[in-house]
Amino acid sequence: MKTTIRWAGVAIAVLLVAVILMLPGYLERVTNTIVPHEPYEISQAAADLHKELFVADLHSDTLLWHRSVLRRSARGHVDVPRLRDGNVALQVFPAVTKSPSGMNYDQNTGDTDQITQLVIAQRWPIRTWGSLLERALYQSEKLHKAAERYPGELTVVKSADDIVRLLTARVAGEQVVGGLLAIEGLHALEGNVENVQTLYDAGFRMMGLHHFFDNRLGGSLHGVSSAGLTPFGEEVVARMDALNIIIDLAHSSEAVVEDVLKLTRRPVVISHTGVKGACNSARNIDDSLMRRIARRGGLIGIGYWDGAVCDPSPESVVRSIRYAIDLVGADHVALGSDYDGATAVAFDTSEVAVLTEEMLKAGFTQEEIRKVMGDNVALFLSKFLPAS
Ligand SMILES: [Zn+2]
Repeated sequence: MKTTIRWAGVAIAVLLVAVILMLPGYLERVTNTIVPHEPYEISQAAADLHKELFVADLHSDTLLWHRSVLRRSARGHVDVPRLRDGNVALQVFPAVTKSPSGMNYDQNTGDTDQITQLVIAQRWPIRTWGSLLERALYQSEKLHKAAERYPGELTVVKSADDIVRLLTARVAGEQVVGGLLAIEGLHALEGNVENVQTLYDAGFRMMGLHHFFDNRLGGSLHGVSSAGLTPFGEEVVARMDALNIIIDLAHSSEAVVEDVLKLTRRPVVISHTGVKGACNSARNIDDSLMRRIARRGGLIGIGYWDGAVCDPSPESVVRSIRYAIDLVGADHVALGSDYDGATAVAFDTSEVAVLTEEMLKAGFTQEEIRKVMGDNVALFLSKFLPAS
């Protein structure tokens, strides 16, 4: 009897360890998915053109997940080996620090948070369990450590000089990928404006003011208040201006967008979105906002997931890109995949040449393709990142 109980105890312990070890992989496998598909056919013309492009993507939440960016993974959408397969030269990596449960595009409060369970399940350091700032700093450490290990494969981009170095390396045929750190929602400041500097010192160069809920800076596009910038939000934007941190207004309320555009004179980005004119979803931005972002010299990153483009096929992503170019011109349109952002997509980053293929098929000019696929982002960052 005693032996049976002992063996039962061992079996339960083994099972528990197995669950603990397998849980992070399971969580990502069900969250970041790829619609099953046959391999995409890429014409010789598209393959030749794609090989020459500087490809850049404004938004992938890869750092949130339990895997090294350096290793090829069967899960999720982005890692360095797959970025190299896709000839992607620059990837923006935002740090996600808080997401409400039951996330939707209409109304969310900040009362709940799913990221807490995730960071515990993924066995992140205990300092990250109760602190949004520490979660951001930890994700920065992950990227920096990876770049230190294999500098020939990954480099952290922090300045205009770094962009020039990256462009030079790519032109010389080196397959190094530039990673730029961003933040998805400045609740990560934990209400302290001094933490703008803390995050800057940790390498963050682009900051989205909001995620899915209102925070101390003001209203989210998917929050409950629809409010504009608070005095704290104004203080934060001024601090970002002083440090030349790129402002990302994806997920911010319309009133916040208005207020920020009044407050800053710099161009802003909407890193990952769809456009209402091509896909009328609550997540997407309308023509008038697109025009204002473009008039300011900003960038609009088109996403690849269903909420952004309705049907997430490559053709549909390209239709949204076409709509955006027709409305605001090719200089203001970019890629903003939202890979690894709890999204279902039709192709991962290794397959991104399918966009070049579809753009050629749709009659885009080579110049339009070059700009959208990455030249616009390279130019923008070389102009608006801190010089060195
Ligand atoms: Zn997002």
